[in-house]
Amino acid sequence: MKNVHTIKDEVSKILQEKIGITPVKTSLHAYPSKTWAQKASQHLLRGTSLKGVNLIPNQVRGTYHEGDFSAFIPEDLEDSVQIMYHEYFGHGLQTEYTPLGSYIHTLGAKWDKELEEANISTNDMLLNLMLNSQTYAKIRAIDEKTVTNCEGLALWTGWYISSLRGEDKDFEDLVSYVPEPHVEACVDLIRYSKKYGTKKMLEDHGYKLE
Ligand SMILES: [Zn+2]
Repeated sequence: MKNVHTIKDEVSKILQEKIGITPVKTSLHAYPSKTWAQKASQHLLRGTSLKGVNLIPNQVRGTYHEGDFSAFIPEDLEDSVQIMYHEYFGHGLQTEYTPLGSYIHTLGAKWDKELEEANISTNDMLLNLMLNSQTYAKIRAIDEKTVTNCEGLALWTGWYISSLRGEDKDFEDLVSYVPEPHVEACVDLIRYSKKYGTKKMLEDHGYKLE
């Protein structure tokens, strides 16, 4: 079986050809699922930047840190490739190529810096900083407003890549545990892109394709 990094490089080439963009700032961090929870814990503080307090990292199947353009995934699960499509390409493209993504990146980077300067060592310290940080408040507010849309687009990206690679069944398996509103948002986007074309769908949703 090919590893996720090899597949990532293949997909990058395909996207570059098809839509003219692929993540360039985003890095992919893949870990064995055995140590995934522990690794996710190490990134716990940075992981809070958008996803709330991920205090149960073994329930998190992948995460994207907007502040420094990093995708984290478990590398040896049956659906690791699908998780990679979602985190690395889905959230990666959005963060790198849309104004909203760019705004969230700026906030995330600022929040990362605040966390670093506060030298957090306990959850209490973390919660306290969250309650008092203007940056964190802004992140929560924008997340609440945009999460369905952002997740819909990241899911759509996974669907698009899967359809290009004949992996529709794998995508459907992934979708089975995704929250319903996100799936609905994705279905709307699929309909839109089928009707108006992929590039038009992306451009209409803020992606800069050149
Ligand atoms: Zn997501």
